[in-house]
Amino acid sequence: MQSAPAIQKLLDELERLPGVGPKSAQRMAYWILNSDRATALRLAQAIVEVKDTVHFCSRCFNYAEDELCEICASSRRDPSAICVVSEPRDIAAIERTAAYSGVYHVLGGALSPMEGIGPDDLRISELMARLASEDVTEVLLATNPNVEGETTAAYLARLIKPLGIKVTRLA
Ligand code: ZN
Repeated sequence: MQSAPAIQKLLDELERLPGVGPKSAQRMAYWILNSDRATALRLAQAIVEVKDTVHFCSRCFNYAEDELCEICASSRRDPSAICVVSEPRDIAAIERTAAYSGVYHVLGGALSPMEGIGPDDLRISELMARLASEDVTEVLLATNPNVEGETTAAYLARLIKPLGIKVTRLA
């Protein structure tokens, strides 16, 4: 189907989104076309705003709008427990259970010899620096239950256990 160039451009961009195929892209494009200008502008501005204001927390590398993320800045969180995750979205999943009151550390991925991702590609030295400078008594390893996640957890456990810090694997 031949679309007007502006519509095709929008379709091309929408199809790049994860989980969006040509059909969903078309549904979204027509929804945007049928929306009033203010609605479309709110969507466009929300995308730009998140790119302009959100960066990584300087302590745990979660997404943050300030120097520290809301979890690191909260006085209600227990800084003696650090839960290690691969990506910021993993934090959201754990927070939904509301069962964890410690803080986090985001590695930015998982070890993968196949893809050439080694310890230096993850924020492991940053984690070790935190363990050296903060009063941490327990590290919970919540990397994914796949080969890369297990490899990463085993690697970290070997690194952290000699420090006398309790290491727990969360699956
Ligand atoms: Zn943080």
